[in-house]
Amino acid sequence: MKASQFFISTLKEAPADAEVVSHKLMMRAGMIKKLGAGIYTLMPMGLRVVQKVEAIVREEMNRAGAVELCMPVVQPAELWQETGRFDKMGPELLRIQDRHAHDFVIQPTSEEVVTDIARQEIRSYKQLPKNFYQIQTKFRDERRPRFGLMRGREFIMKDAYSFDRDQVSAKASYQIMAKAYRRIFDRFGLTYRAVAADSGAIGGDLSEEFQVIAATGEDAIVYCPGSNYAANMEKAEALAPAGPRPAASQAMAKTPTPGQSTCADVAELLGLPLAQTVKSLVLATDTLNEQGEVVKTQVWLLLLRGDHDMNEVKVGKLPGLGAFRFATVPEIEDHFGCKPGYLGPLNLLKPVKLVVDREVAVMNDWVCGANEVDFHLTGVNWGRDLPEPDMVADLRNVVAGDASPDGQGVLAIERGIEVGHVFYLGTKYSEAMKATFLDQNGKPQFMEMGCYGIGITRLPAAAIEQNHDERGIIWPDALAPFTVVLCPINAERSPEVKATAEALYAELLAAGVDVMLDDRGERPGAMFADWELIGVPHRVNIGDRALKEGNVEYQYRRDAAASAVPVADIVAQLL
Ligand code: ATP
Ligand code: MG
Ligand code: MG
Ligand code: MG
Repeated sequence: MKASQFFISTLKEAPADAEVVSHKLMMRAGMIKKLGAGIYTLMPMGLRVVQKVEAIVREEMNRAGAVELCMPVVQPAELWQETGRFDKMGPELLRIQDRHAHDFVIQPTSEEVVTDIARQEIRSYKQLPKNFYQIQTKFRDERRPRFGLMRGREFIMKDAYSFDRDQVSAKASYQIMAKAYRRIFDRFGLTYRAVAADSGAIGGDLSEEFQVIAATGEDAIVYCPGSNYAANMEKAEALAPAGPRPAASQAMAKTPTPGQSTCADVAELLGLPLAQTVKSLVLATDTLNEQGEVVKTQVWLLLLRGDHDMNEVKVGKLPGLGAFRFATVPEIEDHFGCKPGYLGPLNLLKPVKLVVDREVAVMNDWVCGANEVDFHLTGVNWGRDLPEPDMVADLRNVVAGDASPDGQGVLAIERGIEVGHVFYLGTKYSEAMKATFLDQNGKPQFMEMGCYGIGITRLPAAAIEQNHDERGIIWPDALAPFTVVLCPINAERSPEVKATAEALYAELLAAGVDVMLDDRGERPGAMFADWELIGVPHRVNIGDRALKEGNVEYQYRRDAAASAVPVADIVAQLL
């Protein structure tokens, strides 16, 4: 590809709404363009990266015996009603109507459609196992679309679905996918960890997430450096022993900040025994009128970890303490506009991220937690948004230094970005949709299923979080939009430079290298800055001075400077 024919559009500054480095750099490198919240155009440079991801995923899925198809993005609601997900899924599922007022959904995944295909097409055990996959657009009306492609509303996912005759065979299909995922993520050249994840109501251990390790990751992952134990925080917490943590006894009393009350102050005022196992405390103040009737109720959810130091939790000034009392769960649900029962599963002993009505909040500078890095609750949402399950805070039951459940040492915690997920489904969907086949005895049986996702468009963002410097992106070769860029210097003035650049370009193209020739005639500084921002891993500068010695300059993206390489050797070195 020649730069003059391609489309390159780089920016000096990232837009203000870009918070994380991958979002900033993808915008600056001209890889994506925002159309709306969580909705982006893949610009030519970004599309090339996405296509690299797709090609590797496709190759490995095919190698693992999966077969590709392409299911509709717009799907009739009837199928989704069969499994109950049309109603159960909540606002993340985008529902639309056609001109006849028929309901449809935009696929967030495709279990229903693929199960419908299987129940029509697969009649006999002889047709099993089968694994269907697609690389297709998904839509999820995420509560907080953010970080560019990382959490989009429209995004591309590879989703695969396995169908088997029995559990043993289904688990084998699952393992084939788990193995294929390892090959895929190895090929991307990223540092990742496969972690046990919650398999929900289905039970068993057959759910793993593939997490790219990055400090900005939204997920906390727990692992034991001395063994193979690794789980996401949700799963690790489910396994952790209940009750107060041993560290609790070490809590030290501290003087409250002047002008602020601490939980302990409140507890004392209210005469409450504040057990150290309390994880959240719900208080309400009532404003009474002259007749003594309640005219306004204000509710606070105070979030405490089991072992936190009560004096460290600032609750701000609490006026009108005389009217304090505990609020009931229905009252809180009503106050925050949740459906009845919404907070039920949280049981209010589970830490939930704070949601406080603006009017209600008398608290400033919300920092809540155990006063340890990573355990503070910050960035509290002051809006009236509903608490959602994914708002479960970083207040955790499992912390670094806890004993590993496998007894092989202590736990460490790091952050990750979920780029893939493999999941054994059992007969959840096949039973709901009556997807059966005839077994060897001619008896109908429900198909055993598994589902397997990869965030195709999230992956480049995760790769950048892990691989960048102050100059820009550093793509692993496997993901780079171009693996090599040729930068002729002052080619207009030097026929030798131009000719050498063209010759190397032709030779690299013929050798199957993804090569870019920057023939825009830019000054060297601007040209280098562009390609360092875009993150092309290998750069060859072709200039008069080096050519006189029979050399070109080669610079790997992570190198501080270029080194001289004989023109005759450069192609071989790049292959
Ligand atoms: P998350 O926990 O990040 O919301 P998920 O568990 O809801 O992801 P899955 O249903 O497991 O996602 O989907 C499979 C894969 O699709 C995920 O592992 C992730 O890589 C990708 N993915 C999910 N949601 C998004 C999104 N909003 N934007 C980009 N990729 C996504
Ligand atoms: Mg999600
Ligand atoms: Mg997830
Ligand atoms: Mg997942």
